[in-house]
Amino acid sequence: MKSLSDISLFLFDMDGTLYLGEKLFPFTKELLRAIRESGRNYLYITNNSSKGASDYVKKLARLGIAAAEDEFVTSAQATAKYLRENLSEKKFFVMGTESLKSEFTKSGLTVAEEADEADAVVLGFDTELTFKKLDDVCRLLATKPDIPYIATHPDMVCPTEYGSVPDCGSFIDMIYNAVKRRPVIIGKPEPEMIILAAERGGAPLTRTAVVGDRLYTDVKSGVNAGAVSVLVLSGETSREDAAKSDVLPDFILGDAGEIIPCLTEAAK
Ligand SMILES: [Mg+2]
Repeated sequence: MKSLSDISLFLFDMDGTLYLGEKLFPFTKELLRAIRESGRNYLYITNNSSKGASDYVKKLARLGIAAAEDEFVTSAQATAKYLRENLSEKKFFVMGTESLKSEFTKSGLTVAEEADEADAVVLGFDTELTFKKLDDVCRLLATKPDIPYIATHPDMVCPTEYGSVPDCGSFIDMIYNAVKRRPVIIGKPEPEMIILAAERGGAPLTRTAVVGDRLYTDVKSGVNAGAVSVLVLSGETSREDAAKSDVLPDFILGDAGEIIPCLTEAAK
């Protein structure tokens, strides 16, 4: 078994791992400081494609953590990379927020103003969703059976202070019910975002750890990417859930604060 002292880059899921809603965990500031002081690095990873990195900078600032935009790796960025590498000539109809569309245009992709101009469809966590956009997506998928169809991430729900709201995965199901097509998915549990983050952090995947509170997204993305996976029990997964799961993390910690003492162990 590898040791966490071998890790040079930590990729942190945020909600349930570093904070819960608007409440920072007591160890988080010390953990982030200790990682940098030990000569290691960290980045934040998120499947949420409704917000840009600048929104997350503000969110962490509210919780007392100073972060730069390039410390966030989002499913929107990973999707933009996938589209550039595989579908760069296409014109994209984006069922997503203005923030997602500007992420795409910034990276050199063409976003269609009108659905009828589009020859590829992308779904994100569209918190600005209208029925017209749903209708446009269904029409494109039904009338152009070979049109490329991509979604930023598969999460079914997004947590809120009162419970949860439907997320991109629920939109995928809604559209499947209408047109019987499923998209290519980019965010966690797929490996693309982890590979992008490891590239940006300058670490090989074997020395990169994905740290998160969900087995079927965070841990699975680490496994799928060939990185080290760390489940923390400070969010939605209990030790009983972990024992029953067929997704097997390399490490299970009560919370991410337990990483701190490993940073001062000699690397093996
Ligand atoms: Mg989480």
